[in-house]
Amino acid sequence: MKVTVDRDLCIGCGNCESIAPNVFELDSEGIATVIDPEGDDESVIREAAESCPEDAIILQDEDGEQIYP
Ligand code: SF4
Repeated sequence: MKVTVDRDLCIGCGNCESIAPNVFELDSEGIATVIDPEGDDESVIREAAESCPEDAIILQDEDGEQIYP
């Protein structure tokens, strides 16, 4: 699964980092960044994406098909 954060949408709420701390981290600008797309289970990453109030976390399958949001 490919995990990306749309930095223009992220408001730095920290939800993703709280749920999947091995995948997401707020950077020095307070915006979420992906530190390891395989750091947590896919179900946890999905939960993190669903927790994002801005739908800033984009999940794609291996073929590049967007699976969330
Ligand atoms: Fe940014 Fe969304 Fe993560 Fe909040 S949950 S820090 S808005 S990517």
